[in-house]
Amino acid sequence: MEKPLMAGYMNRSLDVDLSSGRVSELPIDDEDRTLYLGGKGIGTRLLYDHTPAGLDPYDPEMVLIFSTGPLTATRAPQSNRFVVTTKSPLTGAIANSTCGGSFASKLKKAGVDVLLIRGRADHPVYLEITEDDVLVKDAGHLWGKGAEETQELLPKAFGKAVIGPAGENLVRYACIVSDERLAGRTGCGAVMGSKNLKAVIATGRRKVEIMDDATFSKLQTSINKYLRSHPMTGDVLPRLGTANLVNVTAGRNILPVNNFQRGTDRRAVNISGEKLAAEEMEKRTGCINCPIVCGRSVKLKGKITKGPEFETLGLMGANLGNFDLKLVLELNQICDDMGMDSISTGGSIGFATELTQRGLLSSDLSFDRHEGICDLVRDIAHRRGLGDDLADGVKRMSEKYGGKEYAIHVKGLELPSYDPRGCYGQGLEYATTNRGGCHVQGSTMFFEATGPLSIDPLSVRAKPQLVVMQQNLVAAVSSSVFCVFATYAVVPAFVYRLNPQGLVSRIMVQAVLNSGPILTMALKTKAPFKVLWFEKFLSYIFGRRVTLGEFIEIGERVFNMERQYNVREGFTASDDTLPARLLNESTFSGVERGVPLDTMLPRYYRLRGWDPDGMPTEKTLKRLQIRH
Ligand code: SF4
Repeated sequence: MEKPLMAGYMNRSLDVDLSSGRVSELPIDDEDRTLYLGGKGIGTRLLYDHTPAGLDPYDPEMVLIFSTGPLTATRAPQSNRFVVTTKSPLTGAIANSTCGGSFASKLKKAGVDVLLIRGRADHPVYLEITEDDVLVKDAGHLWGKGAEETQELLPKAFGKAVIGPAGENLVRYACIVSDERLAGRTGCGAVMGSKNLKAVIATGRRKVEIMDDATFSKLQTSINKYLRSHPMTGDVLPRLGTANLVNVTAGRNILPVNNFQRGTDRRAVNISGEKLAAEEMEKRTGCINCPIVCGRSVKLKGKITKGPEFETLGLMGANLGNFDLKLVLELNQICDDMGMDSISTGGSIGFATELTQRGLLSSDLSFDRHEGICDLVRDIAHRRGLGDDLADGVKRMSEKYGGKEYAIHVKGLELPSYDPRGCYGQGLEYATTNRGGCHVQGSTMFFEATGPLSIDPLSVRAKPQLVVMQQNLVAAVSSSVFCVFATYAVVPAFVYRLNPQGLVSRIMVQAVLNSGPILTMALKTKAPFKVLWFEKFLSYIFGRRVTLGEFIEIGERVFNMERQYNVREGFTASDDTLPARLLNESTFSGVERGVPLDTMLPRYYRLRGWDPDGMPTEKTLKRLQIRH
């Protein structure tokens, strides 16, 4: 008897071997779909299952996995995204990154849930996927071109995921670009380049089956309305984009300045979201079916181009001592076109500048002068001169030149633009996040310093609980696949309206959430109710009840699966740490040390069900039904 198909999925995944040109069906059983959903979850499971321990990221047998989620190509807000998963050439740990653009929905409409690519083509190629065929085509005319021109040269009707010169030249933090959006972190673009794969394009018209379409539509309408009316997703993000955070972080003393030597600078206002909106913004841009529209276009040298996100303003701006907004716009455009992560690029240049400042590296870099910096970014993408060292990232540079105590990375991944010395929970999140120093796998800083709650940023109380809760939620969101910015709207609108910076919201939230026992209880509750909209969308698409407890447990499973992959690749508790500067030096007067990680980590391990060495116990793996 033929197996019934699962709603929400196209029930077809592909395994493409670029060495042989063979294309075959990739079997994914329904149990794994139920346990891991899609996106990041299924990508992690497949990476573990399809690669042996210790495989080099550039080995032809390494897999590069593009996975959609059950909600991709539906009308659910913020859901037209894909996740790319592989092993990071920057960190040696799990690599994954989510991305908007048109590729995800077109891949799924071509009838493909997951695309697993292995092998290496003997010359530059691109993959063309339609409902009927998968073709490996010559990409000789595209090789060497920037991400923008590459996409222009490919057929219009297709959704595209491409690399720029950085991916071709194996810059360890090269990314994958779809339209104006980037799968930015951990170097997935370099793994794609190592396979001689310039692009994957897809098109199709298939529809995703939704079991309860009428209720799904009603929910979509009401959540769109909610997101549009919420102070964060309906006002701050549309009006100022993520750039709103420049003034917020500078005001909280957590904006990295000069390679994390300081947490604020009075010139920050010159690169702020407010200035960007007032002087440079041409129009707002957004992902398919997203009511928030958080991107912005700017005019640069007479051409309309994508404006910078907060992370770029922080890392290519303040962290380099650069408060010239037009220069940040240009650096942002070059990074995007080269297909290079602006966080790691900014972190690497900032570190090289401090090495120069301290006489450990001979270069012209300076926190006060920025001539030639655009050329340097292009040199990184092409691995020319000093750019060749910078293309390997901060960790490898510190092994070559010294300065490990101010080499700002975790597990080899350069830190984003939130200094954890002013938000201790975020420090714990950086230390424990499986892909390394990253802010979008929990965004704990939102609850401590950048959102309306202000859960005492310089306290360790309840922070392990908060970090576990957030990491699990975001892992489930990224497996569905929703945009992580959706989680900002989880904080009810009325909390914002109670005077965001004021006493009332602080006292109220402090009283409820600053309590470790309450959060611990919440973590253990199976939450048999539908409370948020994520699990409701899943219920209507699958035609079965998905509870908040099940949804969060999926996130917990995915997070532990990622951890288990890292454990297999040799990572230990000693990698759950922060750079010495952030542990030992405070940026706050009257505070003697940096992030008190040692007081939070043991509690975090216990809450996770890991042993004192940070290893998931057999009991935990069994409870979460993780095969290993
Ligand atoms: S909030 Fe921004 S990044 Fe997220 S889906 Fe919407 S437009 Fe895309």
